[in-house]
Amino acid sequence: MRYLKTHYDPFANPSDEESWSETGICGTYLNDGNSTNDKDLVSCKKCIKRFDKADAEVLTARLQELKDMQGFVDFMNETKNK
Ligand SMILES: [Zn+2]
Repeated sequence: MRYLKTHYDPFANPSDEESWSETGICGTYLNDGNSTNDKDLVSCKKCIKRFDKADAEVLTARLQELKDMQGFVDFMNETKNK
């Protein structure tokens, strides 16, 4: 069996099997179990090189999520006050 590198998938959620991204941050297609969101376990050199970029992307995505959530809360409050 071919040795599979472990790629970095910052959006992976170990408690949710459906949450894997399609590709790692290096662009490699991910099969089940060859990605992790734990940097210590990543063995793909391309992914390791992109940790900083990935972190920036994760931060942007998280901020966007928060903004969306705040937008939803604002919307609910507005609806309530009518
Ligand atoms: Zn990789």
